[in-house]
Amino acid sequence: MNGYDGKMYNGSQQYGSARMMPPVSAGVPPYSGVHGQPMMNPPGRPGPDGNMMMNSQNVYNAKSQFPQQPPIENQMRNVQLNDHNAPMPTSTQNSHHPPSSYGNAPPMSGPSGTTYNHTSQYQPQPQYGAPPIQPNRNPPTSYVQGPPSGPHAPNYSQPPTMNRGPGPGMIPPPSSGMGGIAPRMGQPPVSSMGPPGPGMVPPGPGMGQPGPGMGQPPVSSMGPPGPGMGQPPVSRMGPPGPNMGQPPAPGMGHLGPGMLPPTSNQKMGQPLGPGMAQPPGIMGQPPGPQMVQPPGMMGGSGPQMDGRMQPPGSGQYGSQAPQPRRLDPDAMPSPIQVLSADQAKSTEPFRTDNPGLVPPLVTSKFVAEDCGSASPRYIRCATYNLPATSDIAKTCQVPMALSIKAMAKLPQGEAPALIVNPGPEGPIRCKRCKAYMCPQFKFHDGGRRFQCVMCSAVTDTPHHFFDHVDHMNQRVDKYQRPELCRGSYEFITTKDYCRNDEFPNPPAYIFAIDVSYNAIKCGLVELLCNRIKDLLDNLPCDVGAEETSIRVAFFTYNNSLHFYNLKSTLAQPQMLVVSDVSDVFVPLQDGFLVSVKESRHVINSLLDQIPEMFADTRDTEVVLAPVIQAAVQALKSAKCPGKLFLFLTSLPTAEAPGKLKTRDDRKLIGTDKAKVLFSPAGNVYSNLAKECVAQACCVDLFLFPNQYIDIATIGQVAQATGGDIFKYNFFRPEVDGERFIKNLAYDIERDIVFDAILRVRTSAGIRAVNFVGALSMSNTTDVELAGLDCDKAICVEIKHDDKISEDLGAFVQVAVLFTSVGGQRRLRVHNLHLAVCNQIGDLYRSCEADVLINYIAKTAIKAGLTDQESKIREELVTRVANILAAYRKHCATPSSAGQLILPECMKLLPVYLNSVLKNDAIHSSHEISTDDKAYLRQLITGMDVAESQVYFYPRLFPVRQFTPPNLPTPVRCSEERLDDSEAYLLDNGLSFFLWIGNAIDPEWVRSVFGVQSTAQIDIDLGNLHPFDNPSSQQLRDLMDLIQSGRTRRMKLAIIRQRDKLEPWFKHFLVEDRGMGGGASYVDFLCHIHKEIRSILA
Ligand SMILES: [Zn+2]
Repeated sequence: MNGYDGKMYNGSQQYGSARMMPPVSAGVPPYSGVHGQPMMNPPGRPGPDGNMMMNSQNVYNAKSQFPQQPPIENQMRNVQLNDHNAPMPTSTQNSHHPPSSYGNAPPMSGPSGTTYNHTSQYQPQPQYGAPPIQPNRNPPTSYVQGPPSGPHAPNYSQPPTMNRGPGPGMIPPPSSGMGGIAPRMGQPPVSSMGPPGPGMVPPGPGMGQPGPGMGQPPVSSMGPPGPGMGQPPVSRMGPPGPNMGQPPAPGMGHLGPGMLPPTSNQKMGQPLGPGMAQPPGIMGQPPGPQMVQPPGMMGGSGPQMDGRMQPPGSGQYGSQAPQPRRLDPDAMPSPIQVLSADQAKSTEPFRTDNPGLVPPLVTSKFVAEDCGSASPRYIRCATYNLPATSDIAKTCQVPMALSIKAMAKLPQGEAPALIVNPGPEGPIRCKRCKAYMCPQFKFHDGGRRFQCVMCSAVTDTPHHFFDHVDHMNQRVDKYQRPELCRGSYEFITTKDYCRNDEFPNPPAYIFAIDVSYNAIKCGLVELLCNRIKDLLDNLPCDVGAEETSIRVAFFTYNNSLHFYNLKSTLAQPQMLVVSDVSDVFVPLQDGFLVSVKESRHVINSLLDQIPEMFADTRDTEVVLAPVIQAAVQALKSAKCPGKLFLFLTSLPTAEAPGKLKTRDDRKLIGTDKAKVLFSPAGNVYSNLAKECVAQACCVDLFLFPNQYIDIATIGQVAQATGGDIFKYNFFRPEVDGERFIKNLAYDIERDIVFDAILRVRTSAGIRAVNFVGALSMSNTTDVELAGLDCDKAICVEIKHDDKISEDLGAFVQVAVLFTSVGGQRRLRVHNLHLAVCNQIGDLYRSCEADVLINYIAKTAIKAGLTDQESKIREELVTRVANILAAYRKHCATPSSAGQLILPECMKLLPVYLNSVLKNDAIHSSHEISTDDKAYLRQLITGMDVAESQVYFYPRLFPVRQFTPPNLPTPVRCSEERLDDSEAYLLDNGLSFFLWIGNAIDPEWVRSVFGVQSTAQIDIDLGNLHPFDNPSSQQLRDLMDLIQSGRTRRMKLAIIRQRDKLEPWFKHFLVEDRGMGGGASYVDFLCHIHKEIRSILA
């Protein structure tokens, strides 16, 4: 391989197998999987009865000490779990708003209003023999009203302010991202929900701001049945036919090519059996459960039990139906409607001091206000109301899952986690379980002792932390200390929290560039070396720091490794080649990691020379494990954490440790052995991943493969270290270059912390189990993250050890110990206060389907390494069917089994679950490559809730209806919704698809593409040429607006209607049948309903 020596670099040396320098690792202590932080202490959880010093009655005698939900006054309270004759609950509130926001707002307009409220628009169709619509069938409309609101309308402009200056030891909040309304520390919130002052009564049960809908059962708000009862349902579907799950055959189903989708009139014109098959929302008012007239219901149902719901006209109608029955798509819960309704009601700041209250959806714009519990930006839950016992948990089967995005970047207008310097004594902690001081801790004995909310142990208040308490037992300095009034904050730590009791060094960024023949030839090396120079100006730094502390290093590799001395005193970089890759070492200690500012000229010179230097290379093979090994060695020797940016174009086939071979046996897909393809080959890379974690080396892989590269194996290193994978198949700089550079730029400059350990503590009776995400764990409690950036989310499930108390609520404390980009050792703490319920209905009111889906998808991916896909998919369906069946059994009004009744919070669960089941990451399909599938699996593993939401249910926008700055109203992901005189932009968070209808106005095509007809559009473009006209501008503005909310640059695919690439686009129309055999939404709803019925039978 040598042969570069002659070309360059004074002082270039070659290291053969004989080492000229000792390995840099000499003298460095061996890796230790556990870093010796105090956080490692076992939790010391008390037993169920807790041998506490304090009598719990004394401690918690006043309910007001724990903000409680308002009293739950509803009939559900008295309903036994198995009582089928439970009366129908009547209250209907279930929104984020206080009740006051109802009633005086004008009716919601738009499509959802139509669907929900104007039954009279449904014209009976004579051929079905349905009676005219009964006008009194309309549900009360007041409940679906919300304040009119644009997507951007939170009129929140004042965060809580506090009326005292920063307290001792406090650091003012970082200013970035806060705009002009940064809350001032040390002042109580100005809102009326502020802390109780002297003489004020703290919010107690029934006081304060009731969470709307809290404590009230979901209900279907239908009136009594009117004339026409017993009429057939509108849905004209049979049970799922034999072709369910099969690709549509011509003439079958609704997707056949050339078939016209039903017009909206047709859809609206279906007969409507009174009380039945109402469009979504009549039953499924925001507060009530969604009831859908399901397919398959014809077959039989019992008599109507309470008259609220029309049972299916069992039999009497079935025989009259000459055509195959179809469920009216408009009668199925619509994500579009749910999302827009949630946005419309999310106008007021979401305060975090109402445990049990569900925050606005991830898709809604809103402002979150930290009132002593963590913001939903940091933690979201599958349910915000935990079941009091494991029996209830088993009955409902809703996992108590949390999605934790510990380092999330907050939107403008929300106060970031404040930084506290607790001084040399370190943060105040519970003496037993080591939980950190938080707003939920209670002070006693005039403030001389405090009681832990997690384990109930009582700890003496250290002298330096002492302050008096008022007559409400509140510390008088409460609002001067974030740890006493905020859900999220950070401590600057002492040496006790550092590895080897030494303060850490700032992290380093190491760039490892593939310079093999492939990399040179495809233009990657030239583009990268050219553009990365500028990106180095944007290395992150701590808030308040003037310049970055991050040092950088470069090396290149093919079948050997080339290191560069970039010391600022050199005029030119020096190259050092290591060709013995069997046991790699870094041949220079001084000059490898350098400051960009000091060594700028040497770095630029190196980057100018690299493309030239390897221009004529013939080396086609690369090594990989030694490259990662070298980065770990370099960080170890520099005693710092860091990140490796690794650019790789092919499978590492050169003779070296970690050599891989092609094992992409597509025949295995769909068989029992498919999991082998997604499990790592050998253990070199898994061991390497452990070494990376031990040294806190986060690895990001930038892959540019032209063929199989075994992502399942090499991707482990990224996944275990909190890293990312970016992939550009058949990379072409002119098509993919900008996207790659923008991803790299973002990756270099985004907020990140290193050497992190995340620990979840919980109040007694529950515990954290089953962590999933891009992480690694060497014991059951500590999540180790070599790097943790602002976009990564991990999931954790909470399980019962014991009963938990409805009166006290449940508490979760997430502590992340980390090294900042400035080299500061800090600890971020998120405290979450959750409600606890004894009534299953309360739980179903507080669920968030998006979190559930995120968790389900991640666990399914994880299970895919050991179980067969078909089994995993079946289990998912069973689990969701159980969740919905339990709701039906215990919460919904007794009614015919023919009705599918969905809890309001989870009415989208079927459509989302169906999308997960059809997803390429989980569904066996020959359509995508093994690598693509492995790549998707890794992406999903790291996704936060917002990313998984749009990924599993993409947005589909008609592009010609865009008026900035508001996004157009999306349409549902079904071909039926496409108008062939329109163009649509599909966004799934990873890619854009621009679908162009055949009948589109040629003028639009001319304006946007500069060609005369759709046939002439260059679909390989990958982006849009900027033409100076409104149509072109509008489309590009739309894409920019969407892109601004995404973390990855999205590739654009242009799809002409009925073109050969159209099936690829249709793959993302997740309400339709999948090309690979996935069920349509309609069919899946039938299927899940059958499952529910069989569970209930
Ligand atoms: Zn404790």
